[in-house]
Amino acid sequence: MIKGYREKSYILLFAVCYLLFAVSGCSFRPYHKETRLMMGTFVEITCQDKAAINGAFEEIRKIEKLANKFDPISEISRLNKDGQVKASVDFIFLIKESLKYYGLTNGAFDITVSPLVDIWKQKIKEAEEKKSAFLLPDKNEIKDKLRLTGSDKIIINDAEQLIKFAQAGMSIDLGGIAKGYAVDKAVKRLKAQGINSALVNAGGNIYSLGRKGKRKWRIAIRNPRNPQKLIFYLDLENQAVATSGDYEQYFISGGKRYSHIINPKTGEPVDNGIVSVTIIAPDATTADALSTCVFVLGKEEGMNLIKKINHVEAKIITNDDISDNR
Ligand code: ADP
Ligand code: MG
Repeated sequence: MIKGYREKSYILLFAVCYLLFAVSGCSFRPYHKETRLMMGTFVEITCQDKAAINGAFEEIRKIEKLANKFDPISEISRLNKDGQVKASVDFIFLIKESLKYYGLTNGAFDITVSPLVDIWKQKIKEAEEKKSAFLLPDKNEIKDKLRLTGSDKIIINDAEQLIKFAQAGMSIDLGGIAKGYAVDKAVKRLKAQGINSALVNAGGNIYSLGRKGKRKWRIAIRNPRNPQKLIFYLDLENQAVATSGDYEQYFISGGKRYSHIINPKTGEPVDNGIVSVTIIAPDATTADALSTCVFVLGKEEGMNLIKKINHVEAKIITNDDISDNR
């Protein structure tokens, strides 16, 4: 009799478990995470549908193909070489967005700083190749290149889908905005494939689609000077976050740290005490562009800009905040 009672209890237990599993079946589906080296960084996509991940990566590849300065046939390379290009809808959108931030920041966000980005990068490369000390670029060379900057000299002809430079020798660099846009395109594709829970991360440019099960997506923000240490968490749902910092790409010379973000007013790497800027925004293009904007503007002016824009938050870390970890 006791045996029969036990059997019944087990059957009941199995039935309850099965029912629970059936009801919340979706959240038991495992997440797949795939990482690919794209756009000069690691791009990571996490979602429950393996096939959908491929489609999302395709979108990122498309943006990489048009915004890659090192690919001679990309739209950006053709524009930089010929001073004009017949542009795709995506490329025109990227330029228009960049011009929007150029206006909003009074020129602090300026994609035409490309010639300056190049000379600073060239100096690092030379020092690395020759294993020699890093030599700062010549002041006159910086002055010469500064004459080629100013996004107001980019002309857009919408009717003919043409982008032109008003001055010979100009060039652009979309490194401060293209990764964010690529993330947004990937998310759009995931949604079109019926996905409502995913995380896309292109080198710290992140979009959290929906929730992960019952919870929001938890994003850890690390201490820029000590990446093993976390400084804060963000719990996000249908939001983007991006971080610009002087810690992932930088070089050190004479004990001084140089950022890869250029101040368009001086032609030199930004040096305003900011270590990192994290922006939370409704989309990844906004988060990416604004993180670079605030980094150049500095803490006070940067926060003033953020206050003017709806649904956007900024967290700025300065040298003073982490002085014990310098
Ligand atoms: P990361 O590319 O490391 O994620 P950011 O999003 O802050 O960092 O973008 C930095 C990149 O933006 C630089 O590598 C360069 O290509 C470009 N850039 C540098 N200075 C500026 C600037 N003042 N305005 C717009 N883009 C810039
Ligand atoms: Mg950026």
